[in-house]
Amino acid sequence: MQTRDILHTPIEFLKGVAQRADLLKKELQIFTFQDLLNFYPYKYLDRTKYYTIKELSPSITSEVQIIGKIIHIKTVEQKRGKRLVATFSDGERTMELVWFQGFKWVKEKLQINMPYVIFGKLNYFNGVYSMPHPEMEFLEDHKAQQKLALQPVYSSSEKLSQRGITNRTIQKMMEQVLQETHAFFVEIFPEYLIDKLKLLPKKESFINVHFPKNNELLSKAQFRLKFEELFLLQLQLLSKNIDNKKKIKGMPFEKIGPLFNDFYQNHLQFPLTNAQKRVLREIRSDLAKPVQMNRLLQGDVGAGKTIVAFMTMLMAIDNGFQACLMAPTEILAAQHYAGLKEYGDKINVKIALLMGSTKAKERREIHNQLEDGSLQILIGTHALLEDKVVFNKLGLAIIDEQHRFGVEQRSKLWRKNHIPPHILVMTATPIPRTLAMSLYGDLDISIIDELPPGRKPIDTRHFFEEKRALVWRFIRDEIAKGRQAYIVYPLIKESEKLDYQNLMEGFDIISQAFPLPEYAISIVHGQMTPQEKEFEMQRFVRNETQIMVATTVIEVGVNVPNASIMVIESAERFGLSQLHQLRGRVGRGAEQSYCILMTGSKLSNDTKVRMETMVRTNDGFEISEVDLKLRGQGDLMGKQQSGTMNLRIADLVKDQEILKLARAVAIEILKKDLTLQDPNHASLNWALQQMNAKNNIWNHIS
Ligand code: ADP
Ligand code: MG
Repeated sequence: MQTRDILHTPIEFLKGVAQRADLLKKELQIFTFQDLLNFYPYKYLDRTKYYTIKELSPSITSEVQIIGKIIHIKTVEQKRGKRLVATFSDGERTMELVWFQGFKWVKEKLQINMPYVIFGKLNYFNGVYSMPHPEMEFLEDHKAQQKLALQPVYSSSEKLSQRGITNRTIQKMMEQVLQETHAFFVEIFPEYLIDKLKLLPKKESFINVHFPKNNELLSKAQFRLKFEELFLLQLQLLSKNIDNKKKIKGMPFEKIGPLFNDFYQNHLQFPLTNAQKRVLREIRSDLAKPVQMNRLLQGDVGAGKTIVAFMTMLMAIDNGFQACLMAPTEILAAQHYAGLKEYGDKINVKIALLMGSTKAKERREIHNQLEDGSLQILIGTHALLEDKVVFNKLGLAIIDEQHRFGVEQRSKLWRKNHIPPHILVMTATPIPRTLAMSLYGDLDISIIDELPPGRKPIDTRHFFEEKRALVWRFIRDEIAKGRQAYIVYPLIKESEKLDYQNLMEGFDIISQAFPLPEYAISIVHGQMTPQEKEFEMQRFVRNETQIMVATTVIEVGVNVPNASIMVIESAERFGLSQLHQLRGRVGRGAEQSYCILMTGSKLSNDTKVRMETMVRTNDGFEISEVDLKLRGQGDLMGKQQSGTMNLRIADLVKDQEILKLARAVAIEILKKDLTLQDPNHASLNWALQQMNAKNNIWNHIS
């Protein structure tokens, strides 16, 4: 089709691009006409507003435009060099226009006492406003040209502007590409949908997003383009999901059996929360079907995911299957093992732990018992994925903290079976549901949105370094009451040496503040062997040491209910979700728990927001919303994934309302026309095929 060919024309064929094509490709990843069209302005300058000098204030950070005349020009020589300074008057007040280069041109061109429109950024110094290198236009020309009210601004790089690709150049290219392609845009949405949602047609949308006629049309254009992008993403995810469910057979767990019932009736130490019950029902209903379960279990730290995981395992075992649980670190795996073994022992379920550090003899024994089926639950790290690990009949695989496991590993796990096991992924990162659905498109989602009763909110305080003595005193008081404390140092991956040094310096200081024999201190860090770590952990678990000094290795797992203080050193270097995870290590016992954030005194605004948020709330969802706002979607998904999503204009975080609508509409359409055979949906079908062919998002997301 001609249309589509035109949009795929290599960018060097656009009039006026020629040798700049290489730069566009390299710096902006613009390879085709379509890519250029999808290169959206990141902001618009409002040129409808004219300021008077009186109206200026130092708080204005965007460009401003002002009408006035130059009444005087002079050259100023200073040690730092020459400047050209013009006095600019709007009839009432004056300000300065400043040039640091191009004097000849400026002097020749500029006319005294002629009305100009100047445009640019302001400086404010010693009570005087100045504008360096203003854009200048005669008022008359300005009016005649009927400038766009809203000027698009495209992101650029130093390299680009050095090589002459300015905002203006891109605008010109955009004009050109719109002119050459606008007749060929294909509307992918059926007419009934355009009418219903009052979508701006595709052509108008592209024109107005690049050259908006007014604010209203700009919003409509943005809405339409964002909607289209998110809609296609949802359509792709949903249709894949439906496909997948049809394709991947699973083993139905037909009954709820004796182990589950015995455990539930006789050994549960606490009543399940309603959220835990609901989630178990959701899982149960999946497992009963002859289709593979792929479910994400979300729950804040301390929400009680472990017991849900265990009871899910019992469903597998009662039906004659084995189960496994895979964790990202040895410490966490060991922690899970300790917790689950306690449950398992009560009902004679056999559980083993397999890690890289497991001894050969024990390992062989585990392999044998796995193969003959006498071992019912295997917990471990990546070691579970080794080829030698062969299950007799694996029915369920639970993956903790999935973001550390890639697709590759998950599929490897599947290959251990003739029919793939059911998969439950657990995560403690609470993100809004619709967002989660887009990020983990292939997973159904269960949320434990309720903490077990009786939890005392953790009291969080932020202290500057100079209050350290106070903090030490507080910890001594708590230790005197029998409590224990974590002191955590940040880990910068780029520099393991430096981290280690920091940690050791910290350890020295702490050792002096908490001397033997009164205090004993444990330390765990990345350079220790797993055995050494385990040894230190166990000393802390048994309360032989009162303080645990560590890098973030303890981030995800550890459950020591008696530890009631979490001190986070250099807290400014942690992200919000990390801080929240760390804080979740305390507050697990009956005592009031504390989280202490230590920082230097000079903090960026973002850091202040992070500290304030931590002090204000314990709610993981609220924290992740703030986190998302601070970091945006890119960070959340990691570079690779957001790149794969290929979102050009929409933002999964900021455009959540549009996302919800897009999802609802996509569901609606697929319900009526699952394979998009309706002639009304022909263009949609084509767009979907294109997307599927281009990037198999599927492979990257889960
Ligand atoms: P997480 O979701 O962070 O993995 P855990 O499963 O480790 O949370 O549970 C945290 C603590 O809460 C554990 O000590 C666990 O025994 C306890 N717990 C879990 N569910 C309940 C419940 N329904 N009532 C009381 N305590 C619970
Ligand atoms: Mg846990």
